Amino acid sequence: MAEIRLEHINKTYPHMTIPSVADYNLQIRDKEFIVFVGPSGSGKSTVLRMIAGLEEISGGEFFIDNKLMNDVAPKDRDIAMVFQNYALYPHMSVFDNIAFGLKLRKIPKLEISQRVQEAAKILGIEDYLDRKPADLSGGQRQRVAMGRAIVRDAKILLMDEPLSNLDAKLRVEIRAEITKIHKRIGATTIYVTHDQTEAMTLADRIVIIDHGDIQQVGTPQELYNKP
Ligand code: ADP
Ligand code: ADP
Repeated sequence: MAEIRLEHINKTYPHMTIPSVADYNLQIRDKEFIVFVGPSGSGKSTVLRMIAGLEEISGGEFFIDNKLMNDVAPKDRDIAMVFQNYALYPHMSVFDNIAFGLKLRKIPKLEISQRVQEAAKILGIEDYLDRKPADLSGGQRQRVAMGRAIVRDAKILLMDEPLSNLDAKLRVEIRAEITKIHKRIGATTIYVTHDQTEAMTLADRIVIIDHGDIQQVGTPQELYNKP
């Protein structure tokens, strides 16, 4: 279970006068796929980073399943994140790239191997586990980056523009897979993009962001197919 609740969440970066996130109020249901859509600089990444614990929250409260999370350490949040600029370790195999976080957590080797193989299978990269990132296509590399996140089995998955470095054809292809992956792993997901089409195809509900504020919240149907 992972319901997320944001109450008056805001962020003003040090030495800045204008808040990057002004006042977010939002309830996200368990297993929901939420897409934050808005122009570049509107505060989407900042919100994700606050939820992940990578950025301090200036004000407001953030809950997971009614537990106040503001001061919980990132590693204790049960949240996995996929970044836009996925940096894979070039000297490590695909297997080791996906396994890296689990090894840090001192999970037994056999379990790591099983979980890596399961994640790789979901992502269709199970035949590439021995390769190095340099020997993969861009789409395969992005799958490895997603593998690193989903192998953690976190209740919450955050994705920050995960497709923006891919060409148009791959974007469409991986987009379709993301929906399948979400159904399969069932994590409560927040996905950030500036691409409205991506938002419409992926989202259970879309949150439209502008200038650090939530403008509208609704299903793709409600927001874009109004008569
Ligand atoms: P988005 O993800 O929608 O592109 P961001 O959350 O990255 O937007 O940025 C929102 C605003 O906060 C932008 O005006 C950006 O310049 C500013 N910002 C982001 N990170 C920092 C930072 N570390 N210090 C100061 N300002 C920042
Ligand atoms: P260590 O983790 O100490 O290096 P292991 O015996 O766990 O040693 O594994 C050696 C290496 O074999 C791992 O680092 C990993 O790169 C690789 N490996 C283990 N299991 C698999 C697997 N199922 N598929 C591909 N590579 C694997």
